Amino acid sequence: MLISIVAPCYNEEDVIERFHAAVQKVADDLLPLGHDMEFVYVDDGSRDRTLTLLEQLAEHDPRVRYVSFSRNFGKEAALLAGLRHSSGDSVVVMDADLQHPPELIGRMVELRDEGYDQVLARRSRRGDRFTRTLTARLYYRLVNRLVDVELVDGVGDFRLLSRRVVDAVLGLTEYNRFSKGLFAWVGFPSTTFEYENAVREHGSSSWSLKSLLNYGLDGLLSFNNRPLRAALHLGMVLLTCAGLYTAWIVGAALVNGVETPGYVTIITVVTALAGVQMVMLGVVGEYTGRIYYEVKGRPHFLVKATNVERTKDLIR
Ligand code: UDP
Ligand code: MG
Repeated sequence: MLISIVAPCYNEEDVIERFHAAVQKVADDLLPLGHDMEFVYVDDGSRDRTLTLLEQLAEHDPRVRYVSFSRNFGKEAALLAGLRHSSGDSVVVMDADLQHPPELIGRMVELRDEGYDQVLARRSRRGDRFTRTLTARLYYRLVNRLVDVELVDGVGDFRLLSRRVVDAVLGLTEYNRFSKGLFAWVGFPSTTFEYENAVREHGSSSWSLKSLLNYGLDGLLSFNNRPLRAALHLGMVLLTCAGLYTAWIVGAALVNGVETPGYVTIITVVTALAGVQMVMLGVVGEYTGRIYYEVKGRPHFLVKATNVERTKDLIR
């Protein structure tokens, strides 16, 4: 059985060699058990020496395939490219920054042999800042209420996928990709196991607050139109309130004669309603924006350099 390791790499010059050494060791351990391995590294437009290092690795190890993007397209695009260029019967998706312990791959392969199509590694949030843990927890609670697929806190992109899951995921061609959700959407028998999170050794997470927020919004909006439904409901509730209030004022005016209208009330109602309308417009706009990107049908990434053709001949 061939196992592909798919790892997106963005500015990982500090760790990529150690990462490769670590997965190589895993490959050596799995070889006697009848598992071959290939390594698919996707350089996501790194600005440092990552590509040079990948080329060197490929020179010394014929199992290394690399794909280098023309610019930074983001981790989701890198994952997609990795899956497309992998040919294993099972694919292990993991980060190249050594936060996903390669020692766990053996365990994943064992569980795969027991018949699971997806083996998910769930990390403890050790070493995360308290605020991030808390926001993650709140976020997942909210998302799982709104979204059809179940997303689990701590289950990231570190997972093993069988070929049929990979093919199913590759069959989803949407432009806005939220892999976590796509993997969950695909389904198939899956199992989860827990591991202790390694604290990042080099550099810092490339997730800024802004990108985390955007990622969170993607998760919320990629899977159904419930936010649109919520906007509709909110609108109906507000309309009812406005109707009742109007009836009350008109009634009061009929009984007591016309009074000087309350300035404060007017300002409050006008600004509040304007705010609500902007939010609803925003929700509609989000969906329209998504349609806009889907309709354009642009490629998810552009490849600048790769050795995949050559490696294919060597492996097969
Ligand atoms: N990554 C990528 N493109 C990006 C950002 C990150 O390919 O634009 C890769 C990065 O090299 C790493 C993985 O995605 O292998 C996870 O990134 P990071 O460690 O910054 O995120 P975190 O661990 O905080 O989720
Ligand atoms: Mg990381």
